[in-house]
Amino acid sequence: DEALREAARLVREVPDFPEPGVLFRDISPMLANGPALNAVVSALGRDFDFDVVAGVEARGFLVGAAVAHAFGTGVIGLRKPGKLPVVADRIEYSLEYGRATLELPAETLRPGQRVLVVDDVLATGGTLGAACRLVRQAGADVAAAAVVLELTALEGRDKILGEKVRALLQV
Ligand code: IMP
Repeated sequence: DEALREAARLVREVPDFPEPGVLFRDISPMLANGPALNAVVSALGRDFDFDVVAGVEARGFLVGAAVAHAFGTGVIGLRKPGKLPVVADRIEYSLEYGRATLELPAETLRPGQRVLVVDDVLATGGTLGAACRLVRQAGADVAAAAVVLELTALEGRDKILGEKVRALLQV
C-alpha cells in the first residue's frame, strides 16, 4: 500500500558495511519516522494468529516490541549469548562466516503458544531460520516469520522451509 511505499523510501543504503563489497540496508531512518513505523508494524502482524511475538536481537527487538504492543500480545527477546541471567534453551547455527547462538529467556514461552517471529532483515536466512527452530524446540508453534526487508538474491527463504514467511519489502 501507499504508506508502505512511502516507508520503503526511508531505507538507507550504505556501501561497504560491515565490510568492503557489502551493501548494507539501514532501516533506522524508517523506524524513526512515525507514519512509516506505524505502517510497518500493522503490516507485519496483519491476519496472523499469534499469542506472543519473539524478536531477534537487536533490531528485531525494536520492531517486535512495537508489533506486540499494537496487537496486544507480549514480547520475548531472542538474545545473543552471555546476556541472559537464566536461559531456557539455546540454538547454535552457522552463518556465512562462522557460527552464532540465540538464547531464549527462562519463563517466557509456553509450549503450544503461537509465536510471531520478527526481525528487521532476512539475508541468508540463518538467523531467522534458527529463531524459528528455537521456538519449535521449546515446544511452541511458529505462526509465521515476518521481516521488514528481504534481500531476495541470498535466497534466505529456502532456509526457513515449512514456515510462513512475510517480507514487507523485497530488494
Ligand atoms: P542472515 O542470518 O544472513 O539472514 O542475516 C540476518 C541478520 O543479519 C538479521 O538479524 C539482520 O539484522 C542482519 N543483517 C544482515 N544483512 C543486513 C542488512 O543489509 N541490513 C540490516 N541488517 C542486516
